[in-house]
Parts: sequence; structure tokens; C-alpha cells
Amino acid sequence: MTHRLPRRAALALPALILARPALALTLPERITQGALVIGRAPGARSAGFEGRTLRVSPEGVFAFGLGRDAGPEATLTLTNRDGRPEVRRIAVAPRHWDIQRLNGLPGRMVSPNADDMNRIRAEQERLNAARRTDTPIPHFAEGFAWPAQGRISGVYGSQRILNGQPRAPHLGLDVAVGVGTPLLAAAGGRVTLAEDLYFTGNTLLIEHGHGVTTLYAHLSRMDVREGQEVGRGQPIGATGATGRVTGPHLHLGMFWFATSVDPHPVLPGGPQP
Ligand SMILES: [Zn+2]
Repeated sequence: MTHRLPRRAALALPALILARPALALTLPERITQGALVIGRAPGARSAGFEGRTLRVSPEGVFAFGLGRDAGPEATLTLTNRDGRPEVRRIAVAPRHWDIQRLNGLPGRMVSPNADDMNRIRAEQERLNAARRTDTPIPHFAEGFAWPAQGRISGVYGSQRILNGQPRAPHLGLDVAVGVGTPLLAAAGGRVTLAEDLYFTGNTLLIEHGHGVTTLYAHLSRMDVREGQEVGRGQPIGATGATGRVTGPHLHLGMFWFATSVDPHPVLPGGPQP
């Protein structure tokens, strides 16, 4: 007589073999509109967010961004070492946006003429190309430092009314600093653009790995060139009042590829989501 397992045990055995533990995943407790999200999934081989493949560092670090109007839900897909995908639904908490009215701007800055529009379109293409940069070292995971210290004079997401005309929302953080204040790189990375642009004046972009980019606008001086590697806190120029401004300040932008995210929550002492 051959030994036979009781029926229940025979059924349970394949289930035990198939049930591998889910990937360990660390994400911020609360994720809001406009968030740069830094996640950790040490066992993950690859990740995808909203149809885009994400780089995952050997330590399991990855990043993605949520736009101003994202949500109420987003989908993150992680693949373990066996190639098995796990889908995680992410709740995106809504935010309240301010209305910002700016008056007294030169008319040509609010409604550019045809020549200006040609220049703006060409610049936009170069900005888009810089924001497609995707390098493997996750400098963003080391945290961000303030590029300059000052009063916050404009926040991310506010609806803008320029000279009484509704315009695109303000997708950056304004820091009121005078002309010539030293400007420091918010994190390590590579300069992907260093150029005088129509709206943002002297403008620097630095990519910090995995498509995470910071933008520094209205500079009086740029001390780094395109392609240069920089470290966190390294002097890269000076703040100013170039481009479309009503006064000197630093406009700090942050992107995950083409998506504008809010730099404030990831800066030291910034508002918690
Ligand atoms: Zn601004």
C-alpha cells in the first residue's frame, strides 16, 4: 500500500508553493497632488507608474511624480525577481490651490507677440528635451537642500491672474532673495540646461537621477555649464530678476520628467503632506 496524504494536505501543498510573500514596499504614508514620491522596494526587479517604466536602483530606490491635477487614484506596478507583477493602487489626496493676482507686468510678457512666440516654442522644445534626461544614480534619494534661503513669496499650484487675465497655474516655489545671492545645487546631479530663456531668464536645470530635475530661474549669473556634474550644496550661480518678474526672486521648479511637482515638501522644514 502506498502512503497517501490526507485530501486536505494534498490540496494545500501547491498553494503553499505558489504563495510567495508580497514585495516589501516603502512609500510615504500620505501622497498628495503635486508630490514627488520616493519609494523603496528592495526585492523589486522593475517598476511602472501610470504606463511608464521606472528605473529601480540596485538598492530598490525609485521615484515618480504626481501632477497638480493628479488623482484621485494612481497605479504603481512592481515586478519581483521571478517576474511576477504586483499592482498597488495609490490614493492621491487632493490639495487646495490659492489664487495669485499679479498686476503691472509689461504687456509683452503677458501676451507675447509672434516673434516672441517663435522663440518661446523653440525654448520649450529644449526644456522638454532636458526634462527627458534619465540617468541611473539616484541622487534624489539623498535628500534636497535649500538652494537659497528667504521668505516664500509664491507657492506651487496657485491659479494665476496676470494683469487681470487668467493664465497657467504657477508650478514652482518662489523664494524672495535679492540680486546676487549665492545659489546652491539642491542635490547632486548633472546640469542639463544653462540658458537665457524668455519667461524664466537665466535658467539652470539639474537632473538628479531617474528623471528627477530641479529648475532655477531668473538668475543674475550662471556659474555652471551644460553637462557639468555638481554636488549637493555646490554654488552654481546667483539669484536675480531676469525674465518675466516683478522683482528679484528665485523661482525653484521640480519635475519628474515632464510632470511639474512641488519642491516645497521635500525641502528641509517644508510643509508635510
Ligand atoms: Zn515662480
